[in-house]
Amino acid sequence: MTAKVIDGKAFAAQTRAQVAEHVTRLKEENGITPGLAVILVGEDPASEVYVSHKHKATVEVGMESFEYKMPADTSEEDLFALIDKLNADPAVHGILCQFPVPDHLDERRTVARIDPSKDVDGLSVANAGRLSTGQQSLVSCTPLGCLMLLRDEYDSLSGLEAVVVGRSNLFGKPMAQLLLGENCTVTIAHSRTKDLAEVCKRADILVAAVGRAEMVQGDWVKPGATVIDVGITRVPHPEKPGKTKLLGDVHFEGAAKVAGAITPVPGGVGPMTIACLLANTLTACCRAHGLTEPEGLTA
Ligand code: NAP
Repeated sequence: MTAKVIDGKAFAAQTRAQVAEHVTRLKEENGITPGLAVILVGEDPASEVYVSHKHKATVEVGMESFEYKMPADTSEEDLFALIDKLNADPAVHGILCQFPVPDHLDERRTVARIDPSKDVDGLSVANAGRLSTGQQSLVSCTPLGCLMLLRDEYDSLSGLEAVVVGRSNLFGKPMAQLLLGENCTVTIAHSRTKDLAEVCKRADILVAAVGRAEMVQGDWVKPGATVIDVGITRVPHPEKPGKTKLLGDVHFEGAAKVAGAITPVPGGVGPMTIACLLANTLTACCRAHGLTEPEGLTA
């Protein structure tokens, strides 16, 4: 078998176009423009790139983008004063603080300060708790993106055997909750899982979020399974000295011979993350105004 390669880049572009359509309608019919505020503390170059990508994507879908760059020595008091101001601002529907923050600041306390209804990264205890108890929540962007890709592959996920490798709060746990919400039978595997290859081989849906390049081999994959590769590891490029390339957690060539469908790295899951950040901001805006949520863009 040769797997279908899931084009996450194209799906993300389609998702962003859907968001843009809703934003246009919100403006025309309700006079509302969704707004996303992004806070960056310090000058981490990678974070600056991520924040500028988020800004560009936000503006492209017609949303208001508010950027706050704070110096690396910003006190918790000053950071929280800004978050409080944004929590109270009706023009701001989504707030995110780009991580990592400098060492003297605490990520958990920072996330906890953001109003859960504006926590578009879905990282707060409130949103994680709501997700795991089946209540309306804002869901962490990357797992939400994976769910959208999976829903596009199947008429229904109900009854499928799903294995999620990785149990982080950022990805593995919310991914497992989302799959459970779709009535999959879910196994969460991690670094202490015994016979990981055998566990993976049970999966109709295999999601790998570990951060170990090409760990999942082709013979770990059940024939016909859908493989979602979340891992990103930068390695030296084998043919271009001085250059690097990205590898996923799955040995792509091996798995693609067995799977029914598979996401590549890059160009699979990655592009869905920002698309889902925009989707979450739109959802938060609709909820704030008591309007119907956009179909297909929420969990
Ligand atoms: P993380 O917090 O480091 O969690 C990694 C998980 O993998 C842990 O649960 C760990 O198990 C498990 N693990 C480690 N070694 C293992 C092994 N040998 N066998 C089985 N499980 C093992 O990472 P994360 O934040 O979830 O991210 C995982 C990967 O996804 C990274 O490569 C990250 O860059 C990528 N990622 C991509 C996106 C995106 O595309 N936008 C977003 C988020 C994450 P224990 O809990 O037992 O230690």
